[in-house]
Amino acid sequence: MSFDEVSAGAVVFYRGDALEYLLLHYPAGHWDFPKGNIEPGETPEKAALREIKEETGLDVELLPGFREEVEYVYMRERRRIRKKVIFFLAKAPTKEVRLSWEHIDYAWLPFSQALARLTYDSSRRVLAKAHRYLSTLPQT
Ligand code: ATP
Repeated sequence: MSFDEVSAGAVVFYRGDALEYLLLHYPAGHWDFPKGNIEPGETPEKAALREIKEETGLDVELLPGFREEVEYVYMRERRRIRKKVIFFLAKAPTKEVRLSWEHIDYAWLPFSQALARLTYDSSRRVLAKAHRYLSTLPQT
């Protein structure tokens, strides 16, 4: 299957006293993880790091071994856009977010609240997998 758009992003987490996940409020109304279009010649990993930096100001670290793909179709100017998004798992060094103009809000939320805040089931599935994956790691 070919796609009109391919984006990359990550489930970004911060481990302080508690484990929290970063969600962004998109102008279209949905809540989702930071992500954006992969540019020509760019790897998905590079694109995810660049987009997260641009959208949140965070210099995150990708954890090896986690990669999930989501596919959906949406309408833009009466055209069907087939889209794929590749999500990684990323550790944030701080909770200090500098939100870009591309989003209207952000939230750091514990797992169950993040699940409830996410708009799409596909993203809820990615978060559940990321949460399970993190629980299998000794100390992250
Ligand atoms: P990007 O962050 O990749 O640059 P964008 O902000 O241009 O993306 P999307 O987040 O893909 O765009 O949103 C485009 C449209 O697709 C919106 O109408 C949104 O509601 C819808 N959409 C986003 N994620 C999903 C999903 N997982 N399933 C179905 N529809 C979605």
